[in-house]
Order: sequence, then structure tokens, then C-alpha cells
Amino acid sequence: MIRIDNVSKAFGGLQAVRGVSFEVTQGSITGLIGPNGAGKSTLFNIVAGLFSPSSGRVLLDGQDITGLPPHTLFHRGLVRTFQIPHEFSRMTVRENLMVVPPDQSGENLFNTWLRWGKVKRQDSEVLDRVDDVLKFLEITHVADELAGNLSGGQKKLLDLGRTMMTDAKVVLLDEPGAGVNRTLLGKIREAILRLNRERGYTFCVIEHDMDLISALCEPVHVMANGALIASGSMEALRRNEEVREAYLGG
Ligand code: ADP
Ligand code: MG
Repeated sequence: MIRIDNVSKAFGGLQAVRGVSFEVTQGSITGLIGPNGAGKSTLFNIVAGLFSPSSGRVLLDGQDITGLPPHTLFHRGLVRTFQIPHEFSRMTVRENLMVVPPDQSGENLFNTWLRWGKVKRQDSEVLDRVDDVLKFLEITHVADELAGNLSGGQKKLLDLGRTMMTDAKVVLLDEPGAGVNRTLLGKIREAILRLNRERGYTFCVIEHDMDLISALCEPVHVMANGALIASGSMEALRRNEEVREAYLGG
């Protein structure tokens, strides 16, 4: 579904990504792990159209999407979430689900709000979909809370919910488990699994919680110092000397 083909990215003299190639196959939950500064988020930013690579290509369903802007990729069904959730804190959870920013960068906030005004009054299809998402993620009880009052984990669930409001086919999740308590972590894990199995979403997940990665991801790719150093099941990677040394701690 996504093919990353020999992608490199330099920031000035710093080589953040070095000739990385791998595929995210349709229907998979593919993992991406590695120490801080390995280049994982930079690679996501390249795939999601926030950065252009210094060299290499990204293909979506066989078509070259290298350098296409996020809103174009969004319309082709490729969506990313951020390490830090980008919710609108002064709107309710329900309202947040109604505004899905087309370019995901917040630039079109004003347009989005205008559209939201329309959606809110007229589109019962959207309202039904919001109810469906709230139920699916079991956050109906906080539907009318201001998003800014949610816990870190609930914000991550809301982020997933906003993804579900789009016609996403493939979703890049940057650390869905970061700063989330155990109970909500279980919910996030279940939500990702069900979205994958019941609704056909393909995922690529960056995560430091190895339990979450083990429960969700196959295959898992390991980056260190900008390069891809290994790929395989989490079980196999745990036995890989180079991976243990670079990341898993001996
Ligand atoms: P990871 O997500 O694996 O922790 P990043 O992709 O965030 O790693 O960072 C990889 C390297 O690139 C780091 O050394 C980081 O400081 C650098 N880097 C990331 N984004 C930028 C940027 N916009 N400008 C300059 N350097 C950056
Ligand atoms: Mg990162």
C-alpha cells in the first residue's frame, strides 16, 4: 500500500534519514521502533507530505506521492496523527469530531470552522457518524466535555476518532501510547485492532511501549541513526543482537 523507496533526509549537515526502504502492506499494522533521534518521526513527516525527502520516493498504491502536500494525501486516504494530539481544546469532543481539518496542519482552521457551522446544522449523516465513532471508542460519556479537559489518553482516543471521521485507508500513528495510563492504553490497543480487523484500516505505528508493539504489529521495522537496521516480528527482533544493542537494552 505504501512503499518507502530509498528515502533520505538531511537537515543541514545532519543526516536524519539514510536510505530507508520498506513497505506497509495493505491490511497490516506495521511497527516502527528505535531510539530517540533515530529518524522515525522525520520518516513519517516525509510519507505524510510535511517534508520533502532529500532523495528517494514514496509510493501509495503504486503511484508516486513524493512531495505531495498533506491535504492531497488526505483525499487519497492517507492520514497521520501526532505525538502530541492536535485537538481543539475549546470545542467539545463531539464538535472536534465534526471538524476534520483537510490539511491536518491547522492552517485552515478558519475555513474548517465555517464548514463545521454548516455541518452542525445540516448534515445528519455526519451526526450519525459522530455517534458511531463515540460508541466505537466508548467515549460517549465525554461527548459534551471540552476537549481541553480530557486526559492525555482520552485525547489520543479522540485523535483516533477524528481519523475515523475521514475516509482514511492508511493511518500513521506517532506514539499512540505516549503518556497514556494502563487502562486507556488497553482501549487504544483494542480500538486500533478493531479498526484494522473490522474496518479494514492499515496502520503504521511508531511506539516505545514494546508490549503495545508486540500486541499489535507485524512486521516491525527498527531504525537507528537514520538507517533501517532490522525488520521482522517483535519476537525475532528480541533475539537480534544488533537491535538489542541499539534499542532494547542488551
Ligand atoms: P525520532 O522520531 O526517531 O525520535 P526524529 O525524526 O524526530 O527522530 O529526529 C531525527 C533527527 O533529526 C534528530 O537528530 C532531530 O534532532 C533531527 N530533526 C528532526 N526534525 C528536524 C527539523 N525540522 N530540523 C532539524 N533537525 C531535525
Ligand atoms: Mg518521534
